[in-house]
Amino acid sequence: MKHNFNAGPSILPKEVFEEASKAILDFNNTGLSILEFGHRTPTFEAVVEEAMSLVKELMQLDVNKEVLFLHGGASTQFFQIPMNFLNKEKKAAYLDCGVWGTKAIKEAKQFGPVEVVASSKDKNYSYIPKGYQIPSDVAYFHYTTNNTIEGTQMHGIPDTDVPLIADMSSDVLSTVMDFNKFSFIYAGAQKNIGAAGVNLVIIDKDFLKHANTGLPSMMDYSQHIANGSMLNTPPVFAIYVCLLTLRWLKKIGGVSAIQQINEEKGRLLYSTLEKYPIFTLPVPAEDRSLMNAVFTMSDPQLEEMFLTLCKQEGMVGVKGHRSVGGFRVSMYNAMPLESVKVLTDLITDFADKHA
Ligand SMILES: *Cc1c(COP(=O)(O)O)cnc(C)c1O
Repeated sequence: MKHNFNAGPSILPKEVFEEASKAILDFNNTGLSILEFGHRTPTFEAVVEEAMSLVKELMQLDVNKEVLFLHGGASTQFFQIPMNFLNKEKKAAYLDCGVWGTKAIKEAKQFGPVEVVASSKDKNYSYIPKGYQIPSDVAYFHYTTNNTIEGTQMHGIPDTDVPLIADMSSDVLSTVMDFNKFSFIYAGAQKNIGAAGVNLVIIDKDFLKHANTGLPSMMDYSQHIANGSMLNTPPVFAIYVCLLTLRWLKKIGGVSAIQQINEEKGRLLYSTLEKYPIFTLPVPAEDRSLMNAVFTMSDPQLEEMFLTLCKQEGMVGVKGHRSVGGFRVSMYNAMPLESVKVLTDLITDFADKHA
């Protein structure tokens, strides 16, 4: 039995794996694999339609929001967004609170002026900056809701009249929030909503009116919308896995139900780690992520021993990102509470032995 704490691509519900494998052999009793199925068919169009409408339902989006499934991962959005909404005269504001946000800033600078309103780089991105001012004369304010590598999460939406853009790759659909406050949301699917290869994009129609024109078709959001996410061949299998995951989320009670489970997992793990001084939690309690918990040990030998133990017990993906070190435990929506319990039991045993 494996317990998969990978940061992404990451765990998905078991029933999603089962249904996805069935569809590889026989998709919807058509006698064809989903991998050989035409995307411009009523059967596949129904998949995209249902996935879009489940996103709208689960996120309670208003009628002004368009849902897209695009290629290229979140990293493509790092440049596609400024390509659409910036130019020499149109400035953007960015919050610099992690490795992914930094990459988004770097790309945006190629298209227009960027003002970094605050940064937590001074402490290796181990906290969320607070008390910063967002200028009112910018085209948008961009931030990352959950910093996958550093284990920080923004708990609350910044209060501003400026259009909000968020990279929600690693915590979308994990917590109830007013998604309608955003002009633009994007999320690579491989952390919380499906298989790698597709990106969930949500755009406010009024915000889209400010987009630049004369862009290559594949970079133009309006053309993707007009073609229902089928401007070219969409990542059919990845979209199908999203649909299965969205169905699963709805069945278990939607975002508010999963939020309760996510909070329980986070409480259990963080409170266990806090009990033992051999562990260090670099992120202050108010900024800790419920999706990616980061911790270290002061003794590198003990770290090595703990990693070996995790391996023996079937725990996958607990080694920290190379930029932070130590450990990172990812607990996305599909991670069952039971797996976190197994891990915290292991932590407790280990800490008792080595205290
Ligand atoms: C993983 C991740 C990305 C990068 O996603 P790709 O799909 O690999 O481009 C961007 N932002 C955040 C917050 C992530 O967690």
